[in-house]
Amino acid sequence: MSGITCKFGGTSLADAACVRNVEKIIRANPARRFIVPSAPGKRFAEDKKVTDLLLAWHSLVTQKLDASQPIAMIRERYAEIARELGVKFDVEKELAEIIRVAPQFDGPDYMASRGEYLNGRLIAEYLGATFIDAADFIKFDDEGMLNPVSYDLLGARLEGPGLFVVPGFYGSMPNGRVKTFSRGGSDVTGSIVARASESELYENWTDVSGFRMADPRIVPDAKLIEEITYAELRELSYMGAQVLHDEAIFPVREPGIPINIRNANAPGDPGTIIVSKRVASSPVVGIAGRKGFTMINIEKTLMNKERGFGRRVLSVLEEYGISFEHMPTGIDTISLIVRDDELAQHGVAVLRGIERAVQPDRVILAPGLALIATVGQGMIHHIGAAGRLCTAMADAKINLRVINQGSSEMNIIVGVEENDLEAAVRAIYEAFKSWQ
Ligand code: ASP
Repeated sequence: MSGITCKFGGTSLADAACVRNVEKIIRANPARRFIVPSAPGKRFAEDKKVTDLLLAWHSLVTQKLDASQPIAMIRERYAEIARELGVKFDVEKELAEIIRVAPQFDGPDYMASRGEYLNGRLIAEYLGATFIDAADFIKFDDEGMLNPVSYDLLGARLEGPGLFVVPGFYGSMPNGRVKTFSRGGSDVTGSIVARASESELYENWTDVSGFRMADPRIVPDAKLIEEITYAELRELSYMGAQVLHDEAIFPVREPGIPINIRNANAPGDPGTIIVSKRVASSPVVGIAGRKGFTMINIEKTLMNKERGFGRRVLSVLEEYGISFEHMPTGIDTISLIVRDDELAQHGVAVLRGIERAVQPDRVILAPGLALIATVGQGMIHHIGAAGRLCTAMADAKINLRVINQGSSEMNIIVGVEENDLEAAVRAIYEAFKSWQ
């Protein structure tokens, strides 16, 4: 097989005019054969996404409250799209079926998945494409992880000519129940379809023209990233830079299918291409930062001589089910950087636990930390990245609370006060935007 998989996000399918635009994009290149739609998204700022309406519906029903409002809004969204496109699509019948079947399922997944299901049916009808229900081919194991058998199952179904529509966002558990990915998960479906269909390219159509080198809310004129590797993107997305669901790279990374982020409102823009290897034009590809971290600072004289010290400290985190982000160490100090939402209400209990486990001279919580990742595979071959970064921080009069460079030499992480985050990102961007 070959061809292109195209995933269209909710804002690209928000109304009939959007669907017509999407059709134009699809027809412009006959290789675009595998179509993965999201549920209709917002048409304007205060509008509701269909997925949110479905979740509201589920929550009202669970509380035995009147769900007629979200149902009416969902009915109207699809009826209007079908009417304006001139597609025969019986929304009433479909909703009646959802109402009939939904009580069999405990959680919200079945309901949440119907936005994509209904949109997939409607769009397949409009395009004259074969509709494939993702629940029959995208399979999860008992732990809720994707079962790789899905690639073969789906691949076999995608054989043959013509267009195929596979709704995004869901699959099914071994017992047949529908399960969704986390929010934004149609990106992951797109990736699975690209791999199953052995597509030469996965186009992810959204409402921006690709990734920018820094968050445009902080650096309004941040440069567009033309090319980025899967590994670089992973480092950036874990710091919260989000255009693509952060699990979307896994299915395509192994076969090396490139992902092209494209803008459905500006189809002429080349977008960002995500590849295995890039010709390192600029050593730093992107900068992403995030607030909401706490450092646990532990001091103990001669800790470096004590065997099992680190293990005992980490076992306390494990006991409370807390994962950590970084662990910078000195000779008599060790720090753990954890996300505030991981630490949650366990802060004091963790301190007490560490006191019991290693009898430190001192252990404190230092909250209010922001982390910034400066990412680029090209840094391996360039001397002076850390120097340039630290100089930029010093020139901007920003205090560095921590600095950490992973052994991959692809990511330098610095920690600053939360209030300094924006200024720090701007300073780092300026330092690296034209570094060759
Ligand atoms: N419709 C789902 C959501 O709103 C999935 C997606 O759009 O990717 O999260």
